Amino acid sequence: MASTSTFSREALDQVLKRRFFFAPAFEIYGGVSGLYDYGPPGCALQANIIDTWRKHFILEEDMLEVDTTMLTPHEVLKTSGHVDKFADWMCRDLKTGEIFRADHLVEEVLEARLKGDRAARGVVEKAGDDEADKKRKKKVKEIKNVKLDDQEVKEYENILAQIDGFSGPQLGELMTKYNITNPATGGPLEQPMEFNLMFETAIGPSGQLKGYMRPETAQGQFLNFSKLLDFNNEKMPFASASIGKSFRNEISPRAGLLRVREFLMAEIEHYVDPEDKSHPRFDEVKHVKLRFLPKDVQESGSNKLRECTIGEAVESGMVDNQTLGYFVARIYLFLVKIGVNPDRLRFRQHLLNEMAHYAADCWDAELETSFGWIECVGCADRSAYDLSVHSARTNEKLVVRKALPSPVTVEKFEVSINRKKFGPSFRKDAKAVENALLNRTQCELEDLAAELKKEGKVSLNVEGLSEPAVITSELATIEKVTRTEHIREFTPNVIEPSFGIGRIIYSIFEHVFWSRPEDKDRCVLSLPPAVAPTKVLLVPLSSHADLSPIVKKVSAYLRKEQIPFKVDDSSASIGKRYARNDELGTPFGITIDFDSVKDASITLRERDSTKQVRGSLEDVVAAIKAVTYNDESWAEATKKLTPFEGQSGDA
Ligand code: AMP
Repeated sequence: MASTSTFSREALDQVLKRRFFFAPAFEIYGGVSGLYDYGPPGCALQANIIDTWRKHFILEEDMLEVDTTMLTPHEVLKTSGHVDKFADWMCRDLKTGEIFRADHLVEEVLEARLKGDRAARGVVEKAGDDEADKKRKKKVKEIKNVKLDDQEVKEYENILAQIDGFSGPQLGELMTKYNITNPATGGPLEQPMEFNLMFETAIGPSGQLKGYMRPETAQGQFLNFSKLLDFNNEKMPFASASIGKSFRNEISPRAGLLRVREFLMAEIEHYVDPEDKSHPRFDEVKHVKLRFLPKDVQESGSNKLRECTIGEAVESGMVDNQTLGYFVARIYLFLVKIGVNPDRLRFRQHLLNEMAHYAADCWDAELETSFGWIECVGCADRSAYDLSVHSARTNEKLVVRKALPSPVTVEKFEVSINRKKFGPSFRKDAKAVENALLNRTQCELEDLAAELKKEGKVSLNVEGLSEPAVITSELATIEKVTRTEHIREFTPNVIEPSFGIGRIIYSIFEHVFWSRPEDKDRCVLSLPPAVAPTKVLLVPLSSHADLSPIVKKVSAYLRKEQIPFKVDDSSASIGKRYARNDELGTPFGITIDFDSVKDASITLRERDSTKQVRGSLEDVVAAIKAVTYNDESWAEATKKLTPFEGQSGDA
């Protein structure tokens, strides 16, 4: 396979385009940035990756799969925080109208300055192959070559190591301090402004029910929590999972499939007791060695990786808990299984200010590509945030009730409402005021109880009410009571591994792409057989009529065995026919020649080594199945077959 230094993105792009793995959507209309269509091999590859994902996660862990709607009403995403916070920072060039994503701009400009004049040109290249970027590239008149002193180099490196952790105002300060302007024109830019990434829509003909295309599949899973817990016979821990499209109105989609506006996600929500985040199967993965980029290393301005087992990472506290660690290791095993090069995979911990305030810990699986290290899977401990906010908003209990081994006596503050007076006092707002009062923490209730006793009333801010609600001791009382409890009720915490399938697919393309040393135009995609779009290319040596009954017989057998295959009986040379399929990642070739007519034997060729073996149809197909579906090595699976040195066209 190609090393990073010999990799040619242009050659890969040509193969992906020529073989229609994917292409810009609406291309004959000029296309729309960030929207792509997948062609036949792209669809088959994606389906195989999803199939592997289902087996690796859903079946292996007995997860509960749901398929929830993509259209989401405003209220749900307001409650989850997306309406207010699901935004990136953008800045505009007032003169040209160009819009930049602030963090990417700062990153690109500082990187370019660090690399000097040569790399400064690379910045524009790095900006991608998207049409808008191409235009920008043309517009570049002059790229500044800034001479940096040692102190500046240090500062730049420090900023770049923490680039994911800056807020909009901080990015604005950096832009001012380091004089960051439009890289194409040198023109000044506005201060960063927040831009919400959700696509807004109206549900129904009246247009009154405001909604959004979902930006993630997670919310649909949280809202079904109680039904899923019931389906699982109240057993904890358990996980739900969902595979489906998500939509984000990215400020500057680019880099092919890496940053798009509609993409397939596969997400898991694993519900766990906040008091016990151990994982029953952690021992099975604790030996898995991984490469980590922890937050303290990034904060020190470095990106040196720390290598250790996941067992050691959890033991030392670097990874917060066993369940999070279990998934980090399982993500690694999945990615390697589907073709990711483990030497180009790292787990980067989120910086404190990058992480949502409620998150306990978060690690991204990042894959190295020619566009840099790309986050392909996020793995976060979201604590009890999502279930708590939806529960508070709807007043539906999204909790687990667990029988205690022995009853316990607890003292707690409880609210009791005088219904006869409460309803008439607050009328249509009564429910909202009651919810606001009931959804207080124990500490808050303690304070309110004291105030109610002293003042005879308390004031509460209630969402949707312009004035605070005044609750007198006539309307409600708050008192400390002693109760014997047999049940512990808690809101589970959620560990969320979240996969962007398109990003993973593109990164794998880069990891498995290479050219044969003897001929750089003969490109190969060394996709693992299990995920390759087609498993076998069937090639008759010539179009002679004697060979066609055998082609038919082999085809029928492959169909019966459910092995995806293609016949190429074109007049192209056999070498050419194999070369075309190496580009598609087809791992095996079956050749039918005139000896096949005599003794029914056929030849099996392996894509990467071009090695050939010969034997009966049954033995050849058994070998293909063993390598593709049972993880056997080529050497092991072909033991029964005879090495073959005849014509392959792979000279
Ligand atoms: P997030 O919810 O932002 O952590 O994203 C979860 C995963 O979705 C990421 O790890 C990516 O693999 C993928 N993803 C996020 N945004 C995009 C995008 N614009 N284009 C493609 N994949 C994306």
